Amino acid sequence: RQFSVDDLEDLGEIGRGAFGAVNRMRYTPTGVVLAVKRIRSTVDERQQKNMLLELNVVVNCQCEFIARSYGALFKEGDCWICMELMDTSLDKFYRIVYHHLHEAIPEVVIARIALATVSALDYLKEKLGMMHRDVKPSNILADRRGRVKLCDFGIAGKLVDSIAKTRDAGCRPYMAPERIDHQRMTEGYDVRSDVWSLGISLYELCTGRFPYRQWGTMFEQLEQVVKSDPPRLTDIRYSEEARSFANLCLTKDVKKRPKYRQLLQHPFLLESAALDADADIAAYFCSVLNRTPEEAQLADLLGAVHKVILC
Ligand code: ADP
Ligand code: MG
Repeated sequence: RQFSVDDLEDLGEIGRGAFGAVNRMRYTPTGVVLAVKRIRSTVDERQQKNMLLELNVVVNCQCEFIARSYGALFKEGDCWICMELMDTSLDKFYRIVYHHLHEAIPEVVIARIALATVSALDYLKEKLGMMHRDVKPSNILADRRGRVKLCDFGIAGKLVDSIAKTRDAGCRPYMAPERIDHQRMTEGYDVRSDVWSLGISLYELCTGRFPYRQWGTMFEQLEQVVKSDPPRLTDIRYSEEARSFANLCLTKDVKKRPKYRQLLQHPFLLESAALDADADIAAYFCSVLNRTPEEAQLADLLGAVHKVILC
C-alpha cells in the first residue's frame, strides 16, 4: 500500500543511525502508531520502482520473527519506510542490563533471541530469497510481550549500500572477515556472512561489550577481524551449549561456518524451541524496561550522537 506523508503525524524521534533517523508516527486514517525510518535516498527513479516492488514481497511476509513492513514512499530525496513499532532494540536493551542494572541477560532470553534471529534469517533466505547483510543488536527488536523480531533488510539495506558506495564505506563493525576483503562486492554474498554477524551480536549480548577494541580507526578494526583469531565466548555464566553455539557462528573460515539448517539443529536452539518460556521472557523484558533508569536514556542519546560522529 502507498503511504502519503500527509497521513503521518510525527510523535518524536526514537533513535538515529548512521544514515537516518527513526521516528514514532501516527498513521492518522487508522490511529495506528508506527516506526518510520527516514533515510537519504541516492537511487534513481527506476531503482526506486524496483525497491517498492520488492517491498511488496516483504509487506506480505508472514514470519513472527520479522518486524512487519507496511510500505514506503520516496519524498524529496528521502525514503520513508513504515514498519511495526517495537519497544526497544537489543543494543539499547543490553546496555541497560549490563551498564545500568549491572546484571546479565539470562540464558533463556539469549536462546530465544538466537532462535528468533536464525528463524528470521532462514525465512528470509528460503521464502524471500534474501540475505540480511546488516545483522547487529540494533536491528533486532523486542517488546514487552516477549517478542523478538529482526528488521532493516531489503530496501533499507539497499539504500545504505548505495550511500556507502558514494562514501568510503566503513562503519560496518559486524562485517565478516571474508567480506572485509571484498567490501565493495555485493555479488556472491554468502548467508554465512550473516551468521558471523549474528555471532558477534550474541557475544555482545552475552558479555555486554563489543568483542573488538572500538577506539581504533576503522582500518585497525578491520585488521583485527581479518588477521587475528575470532572472538571466543568463554563466560561460564552461560552453558557449554550456549558458548558452543556462539563460537560456531564465529568460525573464521566461511566454508566451515554453519548455515541456518545446521544451526537450527544445534542443541542450544532445539532446547529453546522445546521450552515453553513465553511468559518468562515477556516478564523479563517488562521488568528490565520498567526499571530503565534515566541515565540509560541519556546514554542512549549520547550513543546516537557518537554513532553520527564516528560514521
Ligand atoms: P541502527 O540500526 O544503526 O541503530 P537505525 O536508523 O536503523 O540505526 O535505527 C535507529 C534506532 O531506532 C535503532 O537503534 C533502534 O533503537 C530504533 N528503532 C529502529 N526501528 C525501530 C522499530 N521498528 N521499533 C522501535 N525502535 C526502532
Ligand atoms: Mg537499524
